[in-house]
Amino acid sequence: AKDAGGGEYFEYEPSLHAMAEEKRQLEFSLRGALEKQELLLHYQPVVDAYSETIVSFEALVRWNSREHGFISPGKFIPLAEDTRLIVPIGTWIMQEACREAAANWPEDVKVNINVSPEQLLEPDFVTVVVRALSHSGLDPKRLEIEVTESIFVRDADIARKALEQCMALGCSIALDDFGTGYSSLGYLRKLSFSTIKVDRSFVQGAAQNSRESLAIIRAVVAMAESLEMTTTAEGVENEEEAEMIRKLGCDKIQGFHFGRPMPPADVIKIFTRKAAD
Ligand code: C2E
Ligand code: CA
Ligand code: CA
Ligand code: CA
Repeated sequence: AKDAGGGEYFEYEPSLHAMAEEKRQLEFSLRGALEKQELLLHYQPVVDAYSETIVSFEALVRWNSREHGFISPGKFIPLAEDTRLIVPIGTWIMQEACREAAANWPEDVKVNINVSPEQLLEPDFVTVVVRALSHSGLDPKRLEIEVTESIFVRDADIARKALEQCMALGCSIALDDFGTGYSSLGYLRKLSFSTIKVDRSFVQGAAQNSRESLAIIRAVVAMAESLEMTTTAEGVENEEEAEMIRKLGCDKIQGFHFGRPMPPADVIKIFTRKAAD
């Protein structure tokens, strides 16, 4: 706020009322978004850090609202979680991403799908996964479910059991945004993640030569190795960052440097170009 001379503050903050009203309207629109087919998935490549071949694509949901225009997932996912709309939306994402990967991608390319705690704790979550796999015909080995540390905050046992059932199907589990949440390492013993995703904040820190970030990435890589898990560095934006991440020993890289999230048709173009080489 700026002091406007007379000691009074002139500031035009949206009032609490206006914010609540905006949220109510967004929620109303979000309720109709699936039906109106306003949601779509984009896919971002994850590459092997050394060979730079594509090993997977992460599905990232997009909302193009008729009323509000483009709304970022950073805004509507928390709203969908608060209102539990993430449950039907998440089911659609699971079906759609499995279908796309099975129908249009090479068999050695996986699909990573984000799952919110509210979705994971639904009693029929595993059934949703089983159905998505059987309807699409996707080999369960090609599905990696991404969860954050937040799933271990409440009902940790229910979350763990659901994930173990997915693993029994043949799916793998990635621990997303590692290091940003409640960094209690205890649960790393309780569930065998196949991948730990190192949050972009550490990648950025390391690129700026932050000793702390470098030390943390080194520690995570060493820990993952001894637990027989792999690491993915998130948010790698340029070659310098990629080089540093390779030196630190991360296995996989994701970020704008290797590809932005893109519509499904662009993913197919990458594969057809590769096949023509
Ligand atoms: P996330 O799972 O950590 O996804 C990675 C985010 O980082 C994506 O943002 C992606 O576009 C962005 N990103 C990737 N590479 C770079 C880079 O090099 N630089 C920068 N600055 N950013 C990069 P996006 O798509 O906006 O998604 C934000 C978050 O919304 C996701 O974070 C995830 O928590 C949530 N989300 C997105 N799609 C889904 C979904 O299908 N289901 C659920 N439950 N959550 C989702
Ligand atoms: Ca993710
Ligand atoms: Ca992440
Ligand atoms: Ca993140």
